[in-house]
Amino acid sequence: MANKKVSLVRKCKVPDDGWRYYPAVMSANGKIKPNTVSVDGVEVAYPIGHYALRSYNGPKLVYTRIEGGATEALAAVKLAQKKANALAIIGDAGVQVVKDSTRTSLRDSYPRFVQAARDRGSDEAAETYERAVEEFLAGCPKIYADELTREDVTRFHVQMKARGLSARTVSNRHFNLRAFLISLGLDVKVIAGKPPRYDETLPEIYESEELAAFFSSLTLDYDQILFKLLLTTGLREREAMHLQWTDLSFSRRTLQVRSKPQYKHRIKTAEERELPLTQELVAQLQAYRQQLPAGRKLVFGKLGGREDVPDGHLLRRLKLLVKKAGLGCGTCAACLAKTGCENWWLHKFRATYITTLLRSGMDLRTTMRLSGHADLESVMRYLRPAGTVEVQDRVNAVKWF
Ligand SMILES: [Zn+2]
Repeated sequence: MANKKVSLVRKCKVPDDGWRYYPAVMSANGKIKPNTVSVDGVEVAYPIGHYALRSYNGPKLVYTRIEGGATEALAAVKLAQKKANALAIIGDAGVQVVKDSTRTSLRDSYPRFVQAARDRGSDEAAETYERAVEEFLAGCPKIYADELTREDVTRFHVQMKARGLSARTVSNRHFNLRAFLISLGLDVKVIAGKPPRYDETLPEIYESEELAAFFSSLTLDYDQILFKLLLTTGLREREAMHLQWTDLSFSRRTLQVRSKPQYKHRIKTAEERELPLTQELVAQLQAYRQQLPAGRKLVFGKLGGREDVPDGHLLRRLKLLVKKAGLGCGTCAACLAKTGCENWWLHKFRATYITTLLRSGMDLRTTMRLSGHADLESVMRYLRPAGTVEVQDRVNAVKWF
């Protein structure tokens, strides 16, 4: 029979010796001595580290990280031991445990949820969903969707805060988790509640030197047009992916943002909009269309593909181009791993679009309509305070009396 033994260990950062697992130490009153582990029978405290459950999956030894401190660790190990004992008793009695197939298992549903984001062409969303839901499930004792309560979500917030994550990150992960709960058909008003409040930080935008360097590095018309369009119309990734030539009017120099039911791409009413195109972009688009095989409907269909299919890997494309042009920051984790710089992503073109409109004096309501936002508050996120010199010039120019 498989080993069902579960024990509590601590992964510690040992000075000069890296990361090691050691058994956690219990005190006489049945509590865990915080940060303390047993090294060859000697109690040693290593403040940097985290608790984990040590168990077996068949013959394989597995460690499951526990979010939180000694209190959470004690609760987790007690729960795991209770489960292991129950399974051992059932196993000895010759009863087989089968999952209740009429209920929705959280662990089983989660990969489907992440894959759905990937299928929509949103690798970035898939990644953030994966990180948030994985983290939630690691600290959640529930197995089925119908068992979840508000407490599970609150615990998730508390665990993230205890790990020192910013309120903004906690809030973002809350919304990622919320999307997962919606996909499970749960009533998120009851279960998810509201995320913690945080002070908004400004959305990140590209600097003009970065953009100049990026655009001058692009050799294909496809890339020139794609990224210029993202920058000068603020289209969302999926809106650009599904853009068709019939959405463009060269004579009026406009672009219509529409739903594409054939691709299961639907936009909300607030997102329906007509966008002005620059003269330069219209000329580039017209010339580019001549190069495409006849009958192509999509503006950004898969490059070199024989059929007219949306290119679902625009983010990957951007990362590759940035890498090729040597425009990565050189210091982020992705740059060091040579997988493409973290400072370049698709939505940042949209943030740059909205910010630039506002900076150039476009009013809030028009910016709201152009960007397809439903409320002014979302647009106001992009309002940046002007620099000191600019403010001084303006104050000096005011006619006070
Ligand atoms: Zn980088």
